[in-house]
Order: sequence, then structure tokens, then C-alpha cells
Amino acid sequence: MTPAAADAPAVASAPVAGADVDVLVVGAGPTGLMMANQLARRGVRTLVVDRHAGPSRETRALGVQARTLEIYAHLGVVRRALELGKRGNGADIWAEGRRLARIPLGQAGDAVTPYPYILILGQDDNERILGDHLRELGNDVQWKTELVALESSPDGVAATLRQPDGSSEVRRAKYVAGCDGARSAVRHLNGIDFPGAPYEHVFFVADVEATGTMMPDDVNVYLWRAGFHLFFPMRGVDHWRIVGIVPAALRERTDVAFEDVAPSLHGEAGIGLTIRSCSWFSTYRIHHRAASRFRAGRCFVLGDAAHIHSPVGAQGMNTGLQDAYNLGWKLALVVQGRASPALLDTYEAERLPVARRLLETTDRAFRIVVADNPLAGMMRTKVLARMAAFAMARPAVQRVAFRAVSQTGIHYRNGPLAVVDGPLSDDAPRAGDRFPWLRVALGRDGTVTDLFERVDDTRWTLVLAGQDAVPKIPWPDGNLDVIVIPAGAGNDAELARAHVPRPSYWLLRPDGHVGLCGSRFDAASLGRYATDTLTLRWPNG
Ligand SMILES: Cc1cc2nc3c(=O)[nH]c(=O)nc-3n(C[C@H](O)[C@H](O)[C@H](O)COP(=O)(O)OP(=O)(O)OC[C@H]3O[C@@H](n4cnc5c(N)ncnc54)[C@H](O)[C@@H]3O)c2cc1C
Repeated sequence: MTPAAADAPAVASAPVAGADVDVLVVGAGPTGLMMANQLARRGVRTLVVDRHAGPSRETRALGVQARTLEIYAHLGVVRRALELGKRGNGADIWAEGRRLARIPLGQAGDAVTPYPYILILGQDDNERILGDHLRELGNDVQWKTELVALESSPDGVAATLRQPDGSSEVRRAKYVAGCDGARSAVRHLNGIDFPGAPYEHVFFVADVEATGTMMPDDVNVYLWRAGFHLFFPMRGVDHWRIVGIVPAALRERTDVAFEDVAPSLHGEAGIGLTIRSCSWFSTYRIHHRAASRFRAGRCFVLGDAAHIHSPVGAQGMNTGLQDAYNLGWKLALVVQGRASPALLDTYEAERLPVARRLLETTDRAFRIVVADNPLAGMMRTKVLARMAAFAMARPAVQRVAFRAVSQTGIHYRNGPLAVVDGPLSDDAPRAGDRFPWLRVALGRDGTVTDLFERVDDTRWTLVLAGQDAVPKIPWPDGNLDVIVIPAGAGNDAELARAHVPRPSYWLLRPDGHVGLCGSRFDAASLGRYATDTLTLRWPNG
């Protein structure tokens, strides 16, 4: 039972009668703040509450992936993130004092995204950027306010909130977004299971000033017989964040200090490591769990409330942000009466498989890098390190790895919103994919446009390649932007590079994923897709 639920009234005292907000967002970590931003920019009446007294000061997550930066660009905050963060341009794999491989992220990702690197930017900075932007949009977090009970009815949810002065207040919302972290009260109060298990290993994080063999501006991965150490380059001179596992002999101790793990660092992280100071040290245990459902009636769970896993791959915070990006536009359409509530079922249908896949892959990777027995230790430093070095020297493997880690490869191909209308070549993007990043000339003067900058993510976008614009395309709420990519040597080469055939057409959802695609554009197919699949409603219809 969560602490919130333990001393909560089981049932809220007042029944739901109408709603005083459209969406109640519970939790103002990165996931809740992204959700609140997505709703605010679409004009949705949103109440954001968090039980803490103010924004978190802990760095926790610090790897911001390319897909998150693309979303930040649409939100208008990417420049600030890039100014505050530090680019990790590659990853170096070390074992037994030797650098065995370097994965150059730039090379692997420069055709895929405007951001072919991992941005090292602490979770606290991410939260500050998102919180500031939320205030610019006219909303803010109500701190020291804790959700303690929920009562759902067919037309809304009554949420009992413990106020800063200790009193309780019932607020009515049409929907509740549970972004309230691993011990989610929203999940618990809705009886959603959270199956999984804790790992036996204990992690440590340390912020240090150090010099050594580490390659500057890269993430350095040191594999050793009893574990691994990751060195993340931080802003400033010789400033590194070290993440590693506490040696087995110290696991049961609750008072482990930096001095206790320092010998293994000196022993295994290469010759010549000099640590001048350690400004922050903490240990933590992790679990791998995924919620059995992401929706219970009018309540949703997102981010750590829906899935937690090992930090291998720096995916956790990024996955929560993408959960919110997926659900935000759908919730806005439904609360504004522009789509049927059935559209909301697609959140779980699309995001639950992503979470399950992530859990499987991070679990597998984690078990390989932390397995304790001597054979596994030898495998890690001799076989695994060399296999990784061999594989990662290949550009094709680098590209696959980049797509997976950067989250640009996440797709909803098997989801209910992915529809193909007419044949496309096998290597073409598919319905459900994030539409590829293209730089094309859209006007007669030949100026090259970044398609991601051109797309407005609060609208639908129809991209027509190798066919003319169609006059007056009907769309239920008129919120459709049409982009025609005209023929021409430069455009043809760019389309060929991204395997976008001509002719072809692509309906992009607000989150940049392809909804409907086909060869020859057909307005009737588009209309059917809008009403039957997206469940969009025609005004007065
Ligand atoms: C040491 C460490 C390193 C990590 N490194 C990475 C990394 O490099 N990359 C990465 O992507 N991820 C990383 N993660 C994971 C990342 O920190 C989490 O995935 C991320 O914080 C999840 O964000 P969230 O908003 O979903 O939840 P949280 O950040 O946990 O936020 C939940 C919020 O809900 C509030 N809340 C809880 N209950 C209630 C209630 N009843 N009422 C009101 N408010 C409530 C809490 O106060 C909190 O502010 C790391 C995690 C740790 C611990």
C-alpha cells in the first residue's frame, strides 16, 4: 500500500457533479510536467498537484535522448536544454584497462535526427525547464498537495486532495493522469497491479571531479569482473557523474560511503584515475515492474507510475516523457469533444508494448553487465567486451543501436491507429513509425526546409510526396496542414535516402507518428480514417 493510500479515506466524501477541471495531473516530475505542458498548449483546463514542497533538487536521470530533444524543439524549449546540457558524442567501452570500442553517436545518428547525441542534462534541470515553460503557458504546479482518494463515476472522477494546511478538498476532473512515480497513488487506488521484482544489486551515483583515461565528451563504460562503472561527462571542467554497482560484500550495509566504493573504481576504471573531490554520493535499489494496465476508466498511469526498470541505457525519464506526449493530444481532443473517448484506449494499446519491450531489453542488458559469478565476470571482460567492440565497429550495427537508444526507432506499427492504404515498398516507413527527418525544398526558390521545424505538433499534417496538392481536403476540425514535397534532384535524393517512395502520402499525427499512409492520395480514405479510426467528430455531426 502506498503511504498516500495507507492513511487515506477509502472513498471520497462528495459525489462527482460535473467537473471543475478537465484533467487532474498528479505528480510534477518530468512526466507530469510534460503532460501539463501538452495540455496547456492545447487550452485544456488542467490542475497539476504534487505532494512535495517544490521542484526536486536531485539530478537522478541525466541522459536526454534525441527523441526527447525533438519533442522539446516542438515545445520551444530545446535551445535552453542545449545551453544547459553537455553533449555526449559517443560511448567508449573499456575492459581491463584498455579501450576496446568507441560508438560514435554523431555518425550513427546524423541522418536520423537533428540531435545525433545524448544530452547530459540532469533531471532537475529538465524539470526546471518544463516548469518554467508551464508558467509561461499560464499554468503552475500546486505544491504540497497530495492525492489521497479517488472516486470514479460515469461522468468524471472526484479526487480528494490533502492541502498544504492539512485540510482535504475534493476536486472533480473529467480525467486523471497519474504521473506520480513508482509508488503511484493513482495506480494503487485503481487497483492496478504492478508485477515485477527488485534486483538484488545496489547502485551508487557519485558526482566527482576527476581525471583519468576517460575520453572527454563521451560516456565511458568500464566493464569489470564484478560489475561496471559508467562515467558521464558533466558541465564544467573534469566534472563526471559516476554510476556503478556497489560491490557484493557491501550490499547489505546501509551506510555505504564513497570511500567504500573508491577502491573498486581505482582498481577497475583504468590506470591513472585521480579523484580530487566527491560532491554528492547516494545509493539506491532498483526494481523492474510494469503496470498490468495503463488505464482504469477515467484514470491513466504514465512514466514511473506505469513502468520502472534498470537505468541501463538511460531510458526511464525519456519513456515517461513520451508516454505524456502520446496521451496529451488524445486527451485534449476528447475533453474538447472533438474525438470519441474510445481514442483514449489507444494510449495503452500503443505504450504498454513499448514499456514491456523496454523492460525485457533493459533487464537482459542489466543481467549481462551485473551477473556476479566468476564465469560471468570473465565473459563480461573478455568475451562480451570484444563482441561489443567487433559489432559496434560496424556502421549498420551502430545505426540500429542508435535508433534503439535514442528512442527514434519506437513505433506503433501494431497499434490500432496504424493503417496502410495501398502498397508501399518494403523498405518504406510504415504506418505507426515516427515519420523520418527530412530536409527538403518546399518552395520555388529552392530553400531547404527542415521538415521537423515546419511541422506544427498541435495539428495534423498531410505530407504528399511526388504528387500534386489536392484542393480542399476535408478534415473534421479543419486542423490539418498540407505539405507538398515537389519533385527535384535534391528532394528526390532526400526521399530516396529516407526510403520514402514517390508517389506516396503520409498523415502525421500530432506526435509525429504516421497514422495513415499509402501510395496515391485518396481523400475518401483520409475521411474514413479520420472518422472511423481516429473517431474525430465533424462539428454538429
Ligand atoms: C539514480 C537514478 C538515475 C537515473 N538515470 C536515468 C537516466 O539517465 N535516464 C533516464 O531516462 N532515466 C533515469 N532514471 C529514471 C528517472 O529518474 C525516472 O524514470 C523519472 O524520474 C520518472 O519521472 P516521473 O515523472 O514519471 O516520476 P517521478 O520523477 O518519480 O515524479 C513523480 C512525482 O509525483 C509526486 N507524487 C507522488 N505521489 C503523489 C501523490 N499521491 N500526490 C501528489 N503527488 C505525488 C512526487 O512528489 C513526484 O514529484 C534514473 C533514476 C534514478 C533513481
